[in-house]
Amino acid sequence: MHRIPYGKQNITEEDIQTVVDVLRSDYLTQGPKIAEFEAAFAKYIGCKYAVAVSHGTAALHMAALSAGIQPGDKVITTPVTFVATANCIRFCDGEVIFSDIDPQTYILDIDKVRKLLKNSPAGTYKAIILVDFAGYPMDMEAFRDLADEFGLKIIEDAAHAPGGWFNDRSGIKQNCGNGRFADLAIFSFHPIKHIATGEGGMITTNDEKLYQCLRNLRTHGIQQIPEKEQFNHNVWYYEMQELGYNYRLTDIQAALGISQLNRAKKGLEKRKEIISVYKEAFSGAKFIIRQPGNIPGHAYHLYVVEVENRDGLIKHLRNKSIMAQVHYIPVHLMPYYQNLGWKKGDFPVAENYYKHCLSLPVYPTLTEKEQAYVIKNVKEFYE
Ligand SMILES: *Cc1c(COP(=O)(O)O)cnc(C)c1O
Repeated sequence: MHRIPYGKQNITEEDIQTVVDVLRSDYLTQGPKIAEFEAAFAKYIGCKYAVAVSHGTAALHMAALSAGIQPGDKVITTPVTFVATANCIRFCDGEVIFSDIDPQTYILDIDKVRKLLKNSPAGTYKAIILVDFAGYPMDMEAFRDLADEFGLKIIEDAAHAPGGWFNDRSGIKQNCGNGRFADLAIFSFHPIKHIATGEGGMITTNDEKLYQCLRNLRTHGIQQIPEKEQFNHNVWYYEMQELGYNYRLTDIQAALGISQLNRAKKGLEKRKEIISVYKEAFSGAKFIIRQPGNIPGHAYHLYVVEVENRDGLIKHLRNKSIMAQVHYIPVHLMPYYQNLGWKKGDFPVAENYYKHCLSLPVYPTLTEKEQAYVIKNVKEFYE
């Protein structure tokens, strides 16, 4: 069998054509495709504002800055995520405070976060960064209540969850990253994610002030001020008000993003089909410690199972060209964070999860034949 990755982009002829069209147009960057992509994305997610940026990590950095994270501020986050989630706190010279996960959902354990907040003097923590891990649509309303009680800002890392949703207490469907409960949310368009632009990211919010702040940060902190242009200066006038970055997405990428977004719903449906086949195939299997539950709003970026003898299975699968992967090595165990004082044993639930977790291939173009081959090889290993 050919190599089967754990995730993969899906590029159609239509995608290619839209990119070629931009290459033939007047603008490769700072053109009309950015606003078009932002509007389409905001509509898909159901939020007021969306700001397209160069990658998900830039989105996290800008979200952290606009949330007001300052040097020395303590920010709570999960150890079970991609390193960028925690790193954005360090970009602002904030202090990363990890807390353990819930063993069922792999989301930050809200009871443990509450305990952490209650046992610290008021105002100790500035913000919390939550992750819709693997596409699991977390109960953001519960976290909002907690954050309000302790005066925290919430950043939702929804890189895994475009199209995911949960029902709030009033029974209203709330899309992941829609800004109803979190102050800011971020998405990534790395090819392994649901929507691919090569590199790319998006920040969503319902807060107009945060939106303006994000727009400034994206382009060097430079503002065009029409009043000043008219009355004090000239048409060429601009002002740099604050320290910003060049975190822009190009029009080439935005065009690809628009085209990909048109198929996002379909891709999500396909992911759900693939996952139900896995679940059926592995239900009741002795080697499975945990499979994801039946959650209608799950975005299924990853199909993570916890298994016995994970290390043996992953070696076996790789020998069969199945590129199963581990998501993630707990971030607090990275040498960089160990140098900051975190150590093995700090988060037993996350560390036990790490011992057993495995991500099996799931992406819209995975064929029935390929999936059957994956299932056969998993089962064979335990026979
Ligand atoms: C992919 C990812 C990011 C970073 O996105 P990039 O676009 O690669 O910078 C951040 N957080 C999570 C949870 C991710 O999976």
